Amino acid sequence: MKLVRLIANLGYGSRKQVALMFREGRVTDAEGEVLYADDQVTHDAVRIDGEPLDPPSGLVLMLHKPVGHTCSTRDPGRIVYDLLPPRFRLRSPLLSTVGRLDRDTSGLLLMTDDGQRLHRIVSPRANLAKVYEATLAQDLRGDEGAVFASGTLMLENEKTPLAPASLEVVDPRHARLTLTEGRYHQVRRMFAAVGNHVEALHRSRIGGLDLGGLPVGEWRQLDATDLDRLF
Ligand code: URA
Repeated sequence: MKLVRLIANLGYGSRKQVALMFREGRVTDAEGEVLYADDQVTHDAVRIDGEPLDPPSGLVLMLHKPVGHTCSTRDPGRIVYDLLPPRFRLRSPLLSTVGRLDRDTSGLLLMTDDGQRLHRIVSPRANLAKVYEATLAQDLRGDEGAVFASGTLMLENEKTPLAPASLEVVDPRHARLTLTEGRYHQVRRMFAAVGNHVEALHRSRIGGLDLGGLPVGEWRQLDATDLDRLF
């Protein structure tokens, strides 16, 4: 594939814009030698403004989602894609969120262009633990852990009971909940089912992966070590 098309497909710009990047000398090899649109070089050897190219497929990144952004691409308000470089909205294959977090939920959100990996992560069969830190409107009453662990809790409009979930009480108004499913508004609905209300919600972990020190609103690409920690 011609270099200009490869780079345009990754969302760095239209072919015309990418052609201009070549003319401006922004596309180089690893040693800083300027490349031309017709050059035959491998993807790994290309730099734009000195930075390696995004992977052509299999891109996985984590975002520290702030409260107030939705995971939709159509929402007229703030969306998580606003927090990423514009090329991530333009690349083909598309970058999707791995499951969703509500507008009012913060925390670890994964995004990928790899459909198979996405399904492996969200599938209930993967049994991947997702950990949420909930701030509650009322003190825990004491039986919530047993209710959530029972595997019999039915939420409204659901046909099957929830899989067992584990609750750790941090203090009377703060709980850490570990789920292996991802049903719609699940954490908020679970606490509503036991007479409480979630005032703030943060996802701190998926599988063995946490945000580390990633600041709120920031993102980073995952490497092979991160992906090993996920499962
Ligand atoms: N459960 C919720 O209620 N909201 C989320 O964003 C994630 C899990």
